[in-house]
Amino acid sequence: METISFFDGRKIPLERHKVRIVQQLTLLPVEERLERIKEASSNLYLLHNKDIFLDMLTDSGVNAMSDRQQAAMMQADDAYAGSESFFRLEKTLHGIFGMDHFLPVHQGRGCEKILADLLVKPGDIVPMNYHFTTTKAHIERCGGEVIELICPEGLVYQSDHPFKGNIDTQALARLLDKEHDRVAFVRIEAGTNLIGGQPFSFANLRETAAICHKHGINLVMDASLLQDNLYFLKTKDEECKDLSLREIMRAVADLCDIIYFSARKLGFARGGGICMRESELVDRLKELVVLNEGFLTYGGMSVREIEAIAVGLEETLDFSVVSQGPEFIAYMVAKLEERGVPVVTPAGGLGCHLDASRFVPHIPSEQYPAAALAAALFIAGGIRGMERGTLSESRDADGNEKIAEMELLRLAIPRRVFTMSQIDYAIDRVTWLYENRNLIGGLRFEHEPKILRFFLGKLAPLSDWQEKIAAKFASDLPGSL
Ligand SMILES: *Cc1c(COP(=O)(O)O)cnc(C)c1O
Repeated sequence: METISFFDGRKIPLERHKVRIVQQLTLLPVEERLERIKEASSNLYLLHNKDIFLDMLTDSGVNAMSDRQQAAMMQADDAYAGSESFFRLEKTLHGIFGMDHFLPVHQGRGCEKILADLLVKPGDIVPMNYHFTTTKAHIERCGGEVIELICPEGLVYQSDHPFKGNIDTQALARLLDKEHDRVAFVRIEAGTNLIGGQPFSFANLRETAAICHKHGINLVMDASLLQDNLYFLKTKDEECKDLSLREIMRAVADLCDIIYFSARKLGFARGGGICMRESELVDRLKELVVLNEGFLTYGGMSVREIEAIAVGLEETLDFSVVSQGPEFIAYMVAKLEERGVPVVTPAGGLGCHLDASRFVPHIPSEQYPAAALAAALFIAGGIRGMERGTLSESRDADGNEKIAEMELLRLAIPRRVFTMSQIDYAIDRVTWLYENRNLIGGLRFEHEPKILRFFLGKLAPLSDWQEKIAAKFASDLPGSL
C-alpha cells in the first residue's frame, strides 16, 4: 500500500484526483438560513439544494464521477432489450464477484423490495448485523421481523474496536439452532450505515457464512457500502492486508449466496442490482425484476448509468480511489475529537458521525436530539447532515416511540466531492455549535407519516431556540456569512 508522507510531518489526506468540473455553491446569511429551516419544517430533506452550502446528507448518488465514467456514458447502447451496456456491466460484476447471475434493479431499495417479496413470509425472521431503514421497512411490509445481532461493541459510541460492524456469531448460532425454520435469510451489511459506517472483519464474515450454510440458509450481503468495508479490511484486518482489493472483494463474495447493492454508492453512479449463484430462486427473481423494475437488460436504470457503474466498479479496486472517503472522515473525526466534540470512534466509512447523545444530552430522545442538532447545524453553517436516531425509527403497533439505540447526526462525505478547506469549515462550524450546544432545544412532529417518517415528516421547535442560535452566531461572528 503506497503512502505519501509530508516532509513537515503533518498528517493530511492528499487528494489523488484533480477537479475539472465545478458547481458553484451559495452560502446564505444566517438570517436566511433560519428562514429556510423554518420553511422546511426543520426537516432537512425538505430544503432546496440551492440553499445549502455543504450537502452532507448522504453519499447516495452524489459521489463525484471520474472522467473515464463520463466517457463511458457517451458510448451507451440504448436498447430496451439486449443492450451492450448491460452485458458490459454483467461481465464486470462477474469478474469482480464471480457469481453466476446479475439482475439489474433501479436502486438499493428496489433490490430489497423484490428480495423481501420473494423470500419473506409472515412470521419469518431475518437475522442481521444491523438494519437499514429501507431494508427493515420492506421486511416488515412482508410480515417478517428483523433480528439485530450486532456485536456489543457496535453500539458503543466511543471505542477502539476496529470491526464494530461484526455480527455476534454466538448469538447467531444459537438463534439458528432454535429457529432455523423461520429464517428467511441472514443479512450482513457491509459498512453498517446506521451505526457509524462500521466494517465487519473477514473472520466474522467467514464464521457467519459457516453458521448459515450449516443450516442451508442463504447469506445475503448488502454491499452498498462495501467499498468502505474493503478499505478497512485492507488496512486493519491481518488476514487481508497482503491481498489486493480485487482478491479481498472476491474472497468476500465467495462466502455469500446473494449480494445486492445500491450503485448510488458502490460504483459511484446511480442504479443497483442483485448478484447470485445458480439456484431455483433465479427465475422467480427475474420475474419480479421484469414486473417491478424493467426488462432484464436495464432494470429501471438508464443505460448511461449502467456504463458508469461498470467503470466505477473497476475503479473501486484502486486503493487511491477507495481510500479517499475514509481518510477524509478520519481527519474530520480526529480534529473534532481534539476539540472535545463527541463523535463516533473509530472513524468509519460514509461520513463523520456526531454523537448526539453527548452533544445535546439535555434533549430527550422523544424530542429527537439528532434531528434538532441537524437543524441547528444548518443554521450555524448551511451544512446539511442526516439524522440517524429516533426520528429514523418508526412507532410500534401501539403507537409508542421506538427509541433508537444510537442518536447520531451523520455528516456524509460523498466521495471525491469536498475539498480539505470545506472539511475544515465544517469542523469549525460544528465546534462553534458545540460551544453553544445549550441553546439547542427539542423538536416535535406537526405531521408524522406512518412509513419512513424521517423523509417527509414536518417538525416544529419546542421553543424559539432556533432564533437564539441565529442571533448568537451573528453576534459571535459579526460580518461573517
Ligand atoms: C443506501 C442504502 C440502501 C438503499 O439504497 P438506495 O439506492 O438509496 O435505495 C440500502 N442499504 C444500505 C446499506 C444503504 O446504505
